[in-house]
Amino acid sequence: MNASSPQVDPFDLVIFGGTGDLAMRKLLPALLHRYADGQIQAGSRVIGVAREGLDDEGYRAQVREALAGSHARLEEFLGLVHYRPLDARKDEGWKEFAELIAAEPGHVRVFYLSTSPELFEDICNRLGSHGLNQGQSRVVLEKPIGRDLESANRINDAVGRVFAESQTFRIDHYLGKETVQNLLALRFGNALFEPLWNAGHIDHVQITVAETLGVGRRGAYYDRAGALRDMVQNHMLQLLCMVAMEPPASLSPDAVRDEKLKVLHALKPIDGHNAAQLTVRGQYRAGVAEGQKVPGYLEELDGKHSDTETFVALKAEIANWRWAGVPFYLRTGKRLAERVSEIVVAFKPVPHSIFDAAGPLAQNRLVLRLQPDEGVKLWLTIKHPGPGGLRLRHVPLDMSFAEAFGVQQPDAYERLLLDVVRGNPTLFMRRDEVEAAWRWADPILDAWAASSEPPRPYAAGSWGPSAAVALIERDGRTWNEDSD
Ligand code: NAP
Repeated sequence: MNASSPQVDPFDLVIFGGTGDLAMRKLLPALLHRYADGQIQAGSRVIGVAREGLDDEGYRAQVREALAGSHARLEEFLGLVHYRPLDARKDEGWKEFAELIAAEPGHVRVFYLSTSPELFEDICNRLGSHGLNQGQSRVVLEKPIGRDLESANRINDAVGRVFAESQTFRIDHYLGKETVQNLLALRFGNALFEPLWNAGHIDHVQITVAETLGVGRRGAYYDRAGALRDMVQNHMLQLLCMVAMEPPASLSPDAVRDEKLKVLHALKPIDGHNAAQLTVRGQYRAGVAEGQKVPGYLEELDGKHSDTETFVALKAEIANWRWAGVPFYLRTGKRLAERVSEIVVAFKPVPHSIFDAAGPLAQNRLVLRLQPDEGVKLWLTIKHPGPGGLRLRHVPLDMSFAEAFGVQQPDAYERLLLDVVRGNPTLFMRRDEVEAAWRWADPILDAWAASSEPPRPYAAGSWGPSAAVALIERDGRTWNEDSD
């Protein structure tokens, strides 16, 4: 067993939507890795649930195929895996399912809702009416939690009628990423950064989540959401909060979440009055992505008309003492030039340069890369080594250390699933955070809906509409382009 990964007591984890894409691609591989690392004990049960009429062996065959080649201990892990066919909307089979769960009364019970949110209410009601919310039970909610404040409230009310807030884990897998944890360590484990972490020394912050993929077969889902709902309201605002929050008094769940909530409350509103100046939305057209000709968004929707944005760039501001006047530029989109997620904290230039011949000095930047190649780099100005005068170079100091520690970066779900089992909600969203995020996002969506301007077209494989470049260049700044 890895000394840094303490074993947890045997538990039951039920995956509603156990045959789905998320379960097969993320949840089950994450559990396999934690098992192989010795953190999950034999005696634990992973129970897949969906409507498909499978038995344990049939489900194991599906899991075996999906996880083939991922770990030598796969067969052992499959011994923990079970299946129950259930329809969230029908009573049939629930009594037997309740008996299966009741067979291990001492186990922590995790009900992971990896289905469409439309089923959350039915699933929770049935869990409640069959007496399954007993002992140490927790429920995990996958995104999206609603499409606006009202629908989010409906979902949270429905879940809240059965599970207490303390039992409810709203997952945002970005918070489980190694780099995001490292941001906490860097900010609050070093004396160096925090004195500079404010409007006096930081020029601006950029958060980019760029994908090269299009919507593919998820077009129907995506078209009802769009980039703001799918990425900004949840993942990007959570990252913004981690950068901008005040030092919490401790790492206790509520101490951290209270500080994040204050940031969300301090975001300046963007609405019909200023959305045209502060936001850019785009939609991809056909183009060349990763060397291949790819269709446009509307073609992927079979030619259906749609004003759904597949790209958004915006300038946010946090109205408090620490951040007044510091822009937070956010951009995200599909079919962009590169797959990259990163946070760039750009420091103010030196007040006066003594290196006349060197021209303007580059800004110090702290770049936190979430994917690919999770890591942290601090860009510094140094002297080029050797004779020949004082020539300056801007070079990155690599602060990731993953290689030095010889550690493989775990997937975010590995960390988060085990946090649920241990009952630690620090890295999960509390209900009031979700509400505050929607309260900020809804007026932007309303402003776009009321506008007669459609999303701006951009070629697949580009960095989005030129207006997104103009958004930041108007302020005399540029999007970060250092990819090394
Ligand atoms: P999916 O591939 O469509 O899987 C849906 C699962 O739900 C299937 O196992 C399906 O199996 C089951 N299901 C559907 N109706 C059911 C019912 N009435 N009763 C019981 N089970 C039912 O979806 P997914 O991609 O895994 O996504 C699941 C959720 O996670 C969605 O809300 C999605 O937005 C969210 N999410 C997904 C990803 C991702 O990478 N895939 C990432 C973040 C969030 P049967 O049809 O056999 O019942």
